[in-house]
Amino acid sequence: MRGRHMMDKLELAQRLAHVQESIREFEARHHRVPGSVALLAVSKRQPVSAIEGVFAAGQRAFGENYLQEALAKITALATYPIEWHFIGPVQGNKTADVAANFSWVHTIDRLRIAERLSHQRPDHLPPLNVLIQINVSGEDSKHGIGVDALPALAAEVAALPRLKLRGLMTLPAPNPDFGAQRAAFAVVRELASASRVPMDSLSMGTSDDFEAAIAEGSTMVRLGTVVFGARS
Ligand SMILES: *Cc1c(COP(=O)(O)O)cnc(C)c1O
Repeated sequence: MRGRHMMDKLELAQRLAHVQESIREFEARHHRVPGSVALLAVSKRQPVSAIEGVFAAGQRAFGENYLQEALAKITALATYPIEWHFIGPVQGNKTADVAANFSWVHTIDRLRIAERLSHQRPDHLPPLNVLIQINVSGEDSKHGIGVDALPALAAEVAALPRLKLRGLMTLPAPNPDFGAQRAAFAVVRELASASRVPMDSLSMGTSDDFEAAIAEGSTMVRLGTVVFGARS
């Protein structure tokens, strides 16, 4: 069992190194500043031991979608200096746990949720970094706001005292075509650059489309499968 465990850690370290190389390669190919795209390792439905393996290889930012699962992992890994990001839909009755346990929330799409997170962010923690989720796939997705709703929501979220609006997030409907992937991400890049509220972050790109996201200005790619392998 020990040998198997060691292999797993080595394999995770190799996968992580390969993913980091791909990110650097795509930055260069698409004329991005070297090192301007951060990796968020999406650890949903991966065991604590896998997070430990990726952490040991140098990764510090991890993303989780399901609150109960995330809280169990955060407790198990409480001694690790991990930056936790919440990337799933936030339910109105769960905001206190999100406000107390995460550094970032990527999925703001309602003012009421943002207000609760700001109100419930504990005083001893810095402001919660938040991203507004944009729905670029029309009716295909029930999460995220339409582009027309952004200016008003951004102004309201930016005014909340215990939140720091950092930018935008999107999760387009899967599309194998590179040009179509780029077109969806370009909409979000243009929204951020036209925003009157300053934004420094674009959370765009999963295992299936992160080259297109990097080409269109992503500053944070959210990668699960390519880092950890298939989910359970
Ligand atoms: C699961 C998930 C990811 C990662 O997807 P992979 O295809 O495994 O890279 C990224 N973003 C969100 C919002 C997710 O739910």
